[in-house]
Order: sequence, then C-alpha cells, then structure tokens
Amino acid sequence: MSRIQLLPDILASQVAAGEVVERPASVVKELVENSLDAGARRIETIIRRGGISLVRVVDDGCGMDRDDALLCLERHATSKIRSASDLAAIDTLGFRGEALPSIASVSRFRLTTREAEAVAGTEILVSGGRIETVRDGGEAPGTQVEVRSLFYNLPARRKFLRSENTESRNIEHQLYLQATGHPRVAFAFVRDDRVSFQVPATDSLRERIRDLHGSELVARLLEVQPPGSQSAVDISGLIGQAGLSRQTRAQQIVFVNGRAIESPVLNAALREGYHTALMKGQFPVTFLFLALDPAAVDVNVHPAKREVRFRDPGAVREAVVEAVRRTLEGGRRDWQQQFRARAEPAMPDSGAADHLPEIAPAPGGLEITRRAWAVDHTPSVPIAATPAVPASEDHPVRQEIDAAPRDRQFQIIGVLNKLYVLMENAGGLVLVDQHAAHERILFEELRRRMEEKGVPSQRLLLPQTFDLPPRDAEWVERNIATLQKMGIGIEPFGPNTFKIDSLPTFLTAPDSLRFMHDVIDELRSASNSSSALRLGEDMIAKTVCRHAVKANDPLRYPEVEKLIRDLLECELPYCCPHGRPTMIQISHAELEKKFGRKA
Ligand code: ADP
Ligand code: MG
Repeated sequence: MSRIQLLPDILASQVAAGEVVERPASVVKELVENSLDAGARRIETIIRRGGISLVRVVDDGCGMDRDDALLCLERHATSKIRSASDLAAIDTLGFRGEALPSIASVSRFRLTTREAEAVAGTEILVSGGRIETVRDGGEAPGTQVEVRSLFYNLPARRKFLRSENTESRNIEHQLYLQATGHPRVAFAFVRDDRVSFQVPATDSLRERIRDLHGSELVARLLEVQPPGSQSAVDISGLIGQAGLSRQTRAQQIVFVNGRAIESPVLNAALREGYHTALMKGQFPVTFLFLALDPAAVDVNVHPAKREVRFRDPGAVREAVVEAVRRTLEGGRRDWQQQFRARAEPAMPDSGAADHLPEIAPAPGGLEITRRAWAVDHTPSVPIAATPAVPASEDHPVRQEIDAAPRDRQFQIIGVLNKLYVLMENAGGLVLVDQHAAHERILFEELRRRMEEKGVPSQRLLLPQTFDLPPRDAEWVERNIATLQKMGIGIEPFGPNTFKIDSLPTFLTAPDSLRFMHDVIDELRSASNSSSALRLGEDMIAKTVCRHAVKANDPLRYPEVEKLIRDLLECELPYCCPHGRPTMIQISHAELEKKFGRKA
C-alpha cells in the first residue's frame, strides 16, 4: 500500500483549524470578519465561559441561500476571490474559504442564515465537521453562527486554552479592534449574560473611540495630519499626544486597508515618529489607519491574516514617521495656545465663572509665595509675573493679570519641594517638573546647535588615543562626521586607533575615554537607523541628563520664569527627551470633582 494518502476532508479541516483557530478569540475574529464582509450594520457577539462553552455572532448582513449555506462549510469555498489576480488585490477581510469548515470541524456548530427577500431561511447543524441536520429556519434576515464546546473533540488543544477570564479578555480585545476599525457598524458584546459593551453606529472615529474608551482618553488624542498628496500611503486616524503612553502594545493599533495588523515595520516607524516623546519601554496609543493600493500589500502571509507584507516597506515607514511627527508638532501648537489662553475669557461658561474668584489665587496666596521665595533666596527677588501692587479694593488681582503681557497668561504660584513649579493657567493647575523641563530645553537647544554649526567643544589638556575592537572602530569611522558635529573632536590615528582632542562643553568633568566607550556602547545598539541626526539626538538625550538642573537645585524666581518661558518655546514641551512628562495639568473640573463640588 502506498505510504502517501490524501487526508479525509474533516481531518484536513482540523489540521487547518490548528492554524486558523488558536483560541476562542480567533473564532470571534473570523466570524466578525465574515459579518463585516457580508455588509452587516449591526453585529452582536455573545460568549459564555471565555468563549469555550459558547460563541455566537449574529449579524444583519446579506445572508445566504441554502446552496451557499451548505457550500460555505466546504473547504476552500469562498465568494470573495475567483482568480489569482483577485488574490493580488484583496478588498475583503476574508479570502481563504477556510474559517467556517475549520471552526465547524472542532466544535458543535450551528449556522442559521436568511437573505432579506427569502421566504425562509436555512439552519444547519454540524458536529465535529459532520453535517447532521439541514432544515428551513425562520430567523430574521442575516446570519447567526453558534460555536459550542470548542475543541471538544481535540482534548490536546483544549488543554492549551488559558483561564476563562483571559480568553474573555482576548475576545474583548478582538472586538475592540473590529469596532475601532469599523465605526459605521454597531457592535454589542455580551459576556456571560451581561452586556460588556454596546456602541452605536457612527460616522466619526473619535466618537467610536469615546464610546469604547471614554472621553478622558479622547481628549488626549490628536487627529493625524494627512501626508502630502504625492504619498503612496494615505494615513488617517487618531494618535496620543506626546506624553501619553502605555506599558503594552494593547492600544497601539494600526489598520492596513481595514485590517488590524501587527507589523515590525510599523512598530519601528511609530517609535521613530514619537522618538523623544516616548519613554523607554513604553508604547504609544494609536488608532492609525493606512490605506494603500491593495496591490501594494500582500495580506496572504499569515494563517490568521494578522500580518501583511508591504511591497515598499521603506516608503510606508517613511510616511508613518512623517505623519506622526507632523501630528505631534501640530498638537504642540494647539496646546501652547490653550496653555496660554487668558484665564478669564477661556473659562468654560457653564456656570464655572461664578466659582472663579474662589479658585483664583487670593492675594494671601501670593503673599505666601513671595515669602517662600524670600526665605530661599536673600535678598528676595521681585516677582515679575505676579502683581507688583498689593491687591486692594481698587487694585483687584484679576485686573493685573489681564494686563500682563501676552506670553505671561499663566501665573507662577510657587515651587513645591524645590522641584515642582506650581502654576495657574486657564485650564486650572499646572505642575512642572523643573528637572525634566530643563532637560527638554537643553536637549532642543543642543540639537539646534548640532544642526546648525555643531555643538561647542572644549579642548582637552592632553589629546588621548585609544584602540577599539574592529566592529566598534568600523562604527566610529562610519559616524565620525556626526560625532564631530556633536562636539567630539575625534579622528583616526592608525588602524582601529583614534585620537580625541576635544569634548562637548556641556559635559561636566568628563573622563574622556569612559565617555567615548559609553557613547559607542549606547549608540551603536540604540540606533540601527543610520540617520546622522537621529544618532546625534540619541547622544544628546543620553548625555543631557548629567548637565540638567537636578531636583532640589533651588532656582530664583526669574530663573523659574525663564525656565517656563523656554519650555513653552520647545517643539515638544510636554515631555523630557526620555519621554517622561515635564508637566501635569489638573483641570478645574478635576479639582471640582475632588472637592465634591461636582458629581
Ligand atoms: P472566507 O471568509 O475566506 O471566504 P469563510 O470560511 O470565512 O471563508 O466563509 C466562507 C463563505 O461563506 C464566505 O466567502 C461568504 O460567502 C460566506 N459567509 C460566511 N459568513 C457569512 C455571513 N456572516 N454572512 C454572509 N455570508 C457569509
Ligand atoms: Mg472568513
């Protein structure tokens, strides 16, 4: 007897299921994608016990007639592609014709479906891949797929499932993805008989995200600035402003032609776009939508269609980096305007103005401020931004503030713990970490100088020579021009040997060799991007810290004021070059909530 045999159909489906159906969330993904492809306006997903005992997806899509309903359970039966040329330009979520037979082969499966005009619908029951019943059914137009006892016939697979809770959360995440990607479709999710979320159809992504994640998150999202018309990639969506980040990639969501995908290319592009606006080890919050010519992206590279291959990954990457960068810059301009808005007129009009005198610093508060300064620094320094004349009946504080020059529409209240500058602006209370602020200012200043004529450097008393292993030497040689622009006077001095005769002035008491080794170690691994500018930025970010004001360095009032003014001039004022926030705004609403003035 021949050793090679064709697998029976059911077994082949179970093998395919090994790839397509990893866990209950994959079932949900495939079923919801089918509903979306069927043009559903509303999709309801019901699960029990982490989807292991039940997954039911109900849609109001186009439905199927009896023949199609039977055919869709065959392997490689699909209505979505017809020829190889279709495969090269897929515009549906599904295309393999594998999901339904795979799922049906590893569960107790029930399909009911009806086309809108049909007199009767069809109901099909399948057990472990074997069709058991086919009959007329009387459901509403659309399709309902019920998957019970997943992997009941494959105990080995069942053992790999995680706790019901974990599986439920995976399903919920999957539904969040689909709901984010398709705001025009209403979604509902019922978990163990309780409505977990329910979102109405909307035309606006912003509204959909508000419905899913709440308005607090939405307030911190920026509308993505579309790239120029010559870009091959259309980019839209919402991304978190600088300083908003998460410890996982759960909210770093990218859609390519309507499909949520994971992509190292895009991960790298996002990180690069955020660059110093992101803390090390943190991930941005993005709801990014890329639209490409379907022929420019191959979606047929992953069994669960979670990954794609770009024809021109470099161009996609560039477009994303640019879009993120420009969006963050735009966010900064708006933010600055808002930050400096005049305290009174910019107040929300909903009765909040009545509270204003109580929230605004009372003259007594200013007195305390001034005394604090006087204690720390004798002789005491006049406070420029606070009223020069003590408040009285005919000199109310508020008038003085209104008369202040345009860039002083925030008011410094004092310094907490010799570290946090307290300020008032139109939005409420602002806390600035003076150390982080100084780092950001210094970082941008050095970067500017590096771009212009190079960072100023200081000659060493004695030039130093040092040897490097060949790999490091090669790296230094390749980047020598950048290193020189960064204020390091370095030149080759024989094979694998270098000479340094100057170092950047901002380094305090440097051990030049240690410094060079640090630079090489940190930068060689950090920057696989060969951009000289990026390398310089990394270096500045990593060395700036040592020079910045340390916490507890007492600053005089004019210094604090200058610090704040310089910070507001920065390109990315709200976080330090390592992505930590430089300032925190506590809104009037938050204060009112905390004090129980408002529910
Ligand atoms: P694919 O989605 O790759 O085509 P599936 O096995 O997921 O393969 O589905 C097979 C076919 O069944 C689809 O091409 C579609 O024609 C039909 N189908 C599946 N689910 C639905 C649904 N919810 N509404 C209407 N038709 C559906
Ligand atoms: Mg499908």
